[in-house]
Amino acid sequence: MSIDYSNFAFPKQKQLKEKKQYRLKHKSSKLAKLERNRFSILTNNLEKCYFCENTNIELHEVFRGRNRKKSMIWGLVIPACRKHHKLLTNNKEFSLQLENKAKRIFIKKYNEEKFIEEFK
Ligand SMILES: [Zn+2]
Repeated sequence: MSIDYSNFAFPKQKQLKEKKQYRLKHKSSKLAKLERNRFSILTNNLEKCYFCENTNIELHEVFRGRNRKKSMIWGLVIPACRKHHKLLTNNKEFSLQLENKAKRIFIKKYNEEKFIEEFK
């Protein structure tokens, strides 16, 4: 006589997987909402590149990695054309300049403690 295991381990594992997928989906929809509502404290014009006159732009978060979300929350976002977006991605010096500028503007608007608290 054989035992039918199909009602034991597998359904449990499936449940776990579904729960994880739900969490991921939930998280990404929250992030999508943040992305839709991006604004900038660095510029009033989100229609044109921050560095040149090009109006074919994408929005770029000043701080990346785990601070990307924080950048969106606090408006440390700039519009950048393809060329300058690429430069920000590939040129450390250039992106560092922007990071420092964003930091200065943030501190002027709020204060240094707030910056350290949010962008550690
Ligand atoms: Zn540009």
